Amino acid sequence: MSIRIVPKEQLGKEQSEKGISFIPPVLFPNLKNLYQRRAERFQTLAKDNPFADYLEFAAEIVKAQEKALHDNPLSLDLAPLLTQQAGVAPLDRKTFKRSKHWHALLASIIAELRPVVPESATITLENLAKASETELEEMATALLNDEYSKVSADKSVFIWAALSLYWAQLAANIPGKAKTEYGENRQFCPVCNSMPVASMVQIGTTQGLRYLHCNLCETQWHVVRIKCTNCELTGKLNYWSLDSENAPVKAESCGDCGSYLKILYQEKDANVDAVADDLASIVLDAKMEEEGFARSSINPFLFPNE
Ligand SMILES: [Zn+2]
Ligand SMILES: [Zn+2]
Repeated sequence: MSIRIVPKEQLGKEQSEKGISFIPPVLFPNLKNLYQRRAERFQTLAKDNPFADYLEFAAEIVKAQEKALHDNPLSLDLAPLLTQQAGVAPLDRKTFKRSKHWHALLASIIAELRPVVPESATITLENLAKASETELEEMATALLNDEYSKVSADKSVFIWAALSLYWAQLAANIPGKAKTEYGENRQFCPVCNSMPVASMVQIGTTQGLRYLHCNLCETQWHVVRIKCTNCELTGKLNYWSLDSENAPVKAESCGDCGSYLKILYQEKDANVDAVADDLASIVLDAKMEEEGFARSSINPFLFPNE
């Protein structure tokens, strides 16, 4: 899938030709309620969960993201994106020239979290607050280039929380200015080229459609159901759940490439959240690993080196 940023006049004309049965290839993030809903979801899922403490901790980070978003508005200068070559994601995580705005977001997140997190995390926050701009940029570059072991696990969660909020703010600026087209490489986010957290079968105007949720910019992109999101083959898919057929969270495994991705069903629970429900169902990940499948996604609260 690819996205092109085109001048507005051109856009209006093409969109009006598409009609009402058009499936939106991309749903840009709506930041109005995202973090509030996610924090609430984490708190709900923490009840009766063996990892309750960590889910509560994640809820605090998400609340801090919400506050940082409110205190640090951002508008995107689209001009550089208009000259970008076709096929390159407009906010490509590896090549997009990030501004220092995310440092302000990180500082805001640290300030919010200091009074509410456990002692051990306070030390990490203090070290991060003292880090130089160069050190922060090096950690960001490592994480955005999948070099997770270069950043200590206790720090990566906070760095990513700030980077993700920054990218989400940028992505939320695009609607109405970009044209989306179906293309190749649909296992990656068409806006920032990052990986999915999980996928979700939706209700409402996109009823029954499956979208993958980006672990960086919070954009969702459409991938048809009953197709492996990693290798695009369809022949050896299986669905796994821990409790019952009716569980709102399942794992979709593919025997062709040996990977799996969680699939969440809004029709079974309207409050499911890609990040929170994925993290809270970590027991299902252990089960999938036992069965010999590898995760094709990354949760922003659980990087692979942890
Ligand atoms: Zn993205
Ligand atoms: Zn596959």
